[in-house]
Amino acid sequence: MDKKISIAIDGPGGAGKSTLAKRLAERLGCVYVDTGAIYRTVGLYVRRNDVSPSDAEAVEKLLPTLDISLEYVDGKQRMFANGEDVTDYLRTPEMSMYASAVSALPCVRAFLLESQRSLAERYSVIMDGRDIGTVVLPDADVKIFLTADERERARRRWLELLDRGEDAKYATVLHELQQRDAADSSRAIAPLAAAEDAVTLDTTALDLDQSLEAMLAIIKEKTGGAK
Ligand code: C5P
Repeated sequence: MDKKISIAIDGPGGAGKSTLAKRLAERLGCVYVDTGAIYRTVGLYVRRNDVSPSDAEAVEKLLPTLDISLEYVDGKQRMFANGEDVTDYLRTPEMSMYASAVSALPCVRAFLLESQRSLAERYSVIMDGRDIGTVVLPDADVKIFLTADERERARRRWLELLDRGEDAKYATVLHELQQRDAADSSRAIAPLAAAEDAVTLDTTALDLDQSLEAMLAIIKEKTGGAK
């Protein structure tokens, strides 16, 4: 790739952001940055230290003892907390709630902001999260706000959990998703929102391949057909 590009993908849980962003990154030869995993790493560390994720003072005191790094192994993003690979502990419903709680704290967002920006300065990136187009990369070349009907998003999450062999109940998944979306959208700092210049894509009626094609078309249009 000649020129560095940055693609910001935001949206609520279960809209397909990470699966689609990963595929797009492969297609376009970009680095995929899953920022949710970074917040989940903070959540895990807070949990392991028996700190309440909403106790801003205690979390702020803990942050200087946490060194987060990100590595790519076989093209997959792995998360490290003080040198330990914690990737396999992050995608649980409990860590979703911890991540959502710590992510509402200004000290946590400030702690993570520069490292996310510096990735986009070094590489062509596809970064997904909640505030990428609005806060982290306001000058991104392409901004996509990916969404889908709440019940469909919950259904996808539920199937994902069943697929991993977990004993998940649809009603619980839906309830947790609603709680997390409400918290992420209403928080005072960097709430989940579409940037003014983002293109919104509703994937409710689209399968993965159709969603991918729709995103590629948006990227092509926004980058003047360069991709
Ligand atoms: O995307 P994922 O579900 O892994 O994100 C977990 C949580 O981390 C979200 O519910 C949200 O509260 C937080 N998050 C955030 N900003 C981001 C990415 C994730 O606040 N850029």
